[in-house]
Amino acid sequence: MGKEQRFLEFLERLVRVTHNPDFFDRETYVELIHDICECYGISKGDVEFYRNTSAEQKHEGSYFCDFDNGHAHKIIHRIRVISKTQAVLIATLYAEESAEFSDEEIDQLGLLLRVILSFVSRRRMMDTLETFGFTDEKGYPNFRAYARYLEMRNAEGKLVGNLAVQMDLHNFTLVNQEVGRECADEVMWNYFEAVKRAVGEKGIVSRLGGDKFIAVLPPEAKERFFEVLSGIPIPYDEESSKRIFVSSAAGIYVIPESFVMHTSGDIMDKITLSCAVAKKSEEGAIVFYDETMRAMRERSKLVQRDFRIGLKREEFLVYYQPKVDVHSGEIVGAEALCRWFRDGSIVPPMNFIPILEQNMDICDLDFYMLEHVCRDIRRWLDVGRNVVRISVNLSRKHLVDVDLQEHIMTVIDKYHVPHEYVEIELTETTTDVQFRDLKRVVTGLRELGVHAAVDDFGMGYSSLNLIREIPWDVLKVDKCFLPTDDEKDNSINNVMFKHVVALAQDMGLECVVEGVETEKQLELLRTNCCNIAQGFYFDKPLPVEEFERRMITKGYETPVVTDTP
Ligand code: C2E
Ligand code: MG
Ligand code: MG
Repeated sequence: MGKEQRFLEFLERLVRVTHNPDFFDRETYVELIHDICECYGISKGDVEFYRNTSAEQKHEGSYFCDFDNGHAHKIIHRIRVISKTQAVLIATLYAEESAEFSDEEIDQLGLLLRVILSFVSRRRMMDTLETFGFTDEKGYPNFRAYARYLEMRNAEGKLVGNLAVQMDLHNFTLVNQEVGRECADEVMWNYFEAVKRAVGEKGIVSRLGGDKFIAVLPPEAKERFFEVLSGIPIPYDEESSKRIFVSSAAGIYVIPESFVMHTSGDIMDKITLSCAVAKKSEEGAIVFYDETMRAMRERSKLVQRDFRIGLKREEFLVYYQPKVDVHSGEIVGAEALCRWFRDGSIVPPMNFIPILEQNMDICDLDFYMLEHVCRDIRRWLDVGRNVVRISVNLSRKHLVDVDLQEHIMTVIDKYHVPHEYVEIELTETTTDVQFRDLKRVVTGLRELGVHAAVDDFGMGYSSLNLIREIPWDVLKVDKCFLPTDDEKDNSINNVMFKHVVALAQDMGLECVVEGVETEKQLELLRTNCCNIAQGFYFDKPLPVEEFERRMITKGYETPVVTDTP
């Protein structure tokens, strides 16, 4: 074969193998490089790649060598090219000391090298794009990688039956606190690896940001995947072989046959929604998407939309639920509870407060309530009525407001309400930061003579620290602690109730028990020396006029219940 013909054959083979980087066959390519080198008497060929000229100056690039027979003694040819994307590529050919090359051969080699370089440049740029475009700053595949995967699988018609998932790691803030930021990063990475293994080759896991991940997996991976969701021990410190338990809440959409995907957003909507529902339910919850969720979301949107108008039109009313002295039946206080008078019916707080708590809207409602309560107290004082302390609920969302205490006092003082007539109810917190803020606010209020109550004590993860470290005036025992009539004396609820009440008394806290509905429960309070009850046994939350009438009669008859043997 003539030299010219041989060169043309190499050129043709090279163009063929490097034609489409997506279908690149490395084995054929390396074989071809070897053939070329052997044929021309080349001992070694290498390529340096730099993303741009400044990377070249700093020698921050990558290096490839596909052929080296160990006899590279001199450089016989070197070319440097700059690609359209400003990447710099330098190719060098080496040969033995004695080797000789004609000008024609050098020209031919130069041309072959240029074909190789344009290929390397395209491939490298694709890799760079892959690295920078489809992974996030910590190396996790990102949303773009997920969207691309969905689009590819959809085009192949392989999405039906797959599970699309959004997952949210449980309590990752706590993991951060517990093991420190660096180790927490490792925990997250190792958990991600476990999720990836469960999902398998025929799926993808990407990070949305923070501790949120999204995945697509085939039905056969479901069981393994659910195991990882419900919780597995994750190692994070190789030396001491320490492990921490990690689990996730997840929203899942099983892609049905009828599903038509226009964009990846069609799936994201569904898994984001079901994940939000999962997060609100019990730990470890896995929630499958269904169409009623969409209706719920529509309702939420309507609430958020109508809230501002409702506030302006004063559609929110303050209802007062009396707090009663269990011995005398006298009203010693009341809790202000919100009702929304919307389109002719009364909406209970559970139907709108959790929605308003999704953003800071709840804070405006709480201040509206405080303002209306102070206005009522002022009016009662002005007409010489008997006034009792009124408690107002404040959402935890307020705790981020560093000036919360001043804001509260501005409202109280605007109506010249003596501070002792106002009580603020706050619920327990879940994080250290909130705990610190809570302590600051309660301490501040107390110094100014405003009472502070810990609400729903016992319902969440109440810690004893909460009542030891924070100077509360009042502890409101949640109704979940109050035994029902048919519970035995030695039931866990009964034992805990007695001790919680005793603890509050011994610590000098005023103790209010919520949810008292029966005479027997009232008697239980009496026998345990708990003085104040709030509940349907006396009254439901009352509209202001009714509450005022109640205040005139001053209270209730309180029958004494004696246990029948
Ligand atoms: P909460 O602060 O613990 O209020 C006590 C809730 O228990 C009230 O529900 C009250 O009606 C109910 N309750 C009282 N006695 C009994 C009883 O004997 N049996 C039963 N089953 N329930 C009883 P409501 O008014 O539906 O309020 C629910 C929750 O909504 C409140 O719980 C509070 O967390 C929240 N909320 C109400 N108004 C406001 C507000 O203005 N601001 C904020 N941030 N939250 C509010
Ligand atoms: Mg309350
Ligand atoms: Mg409560």
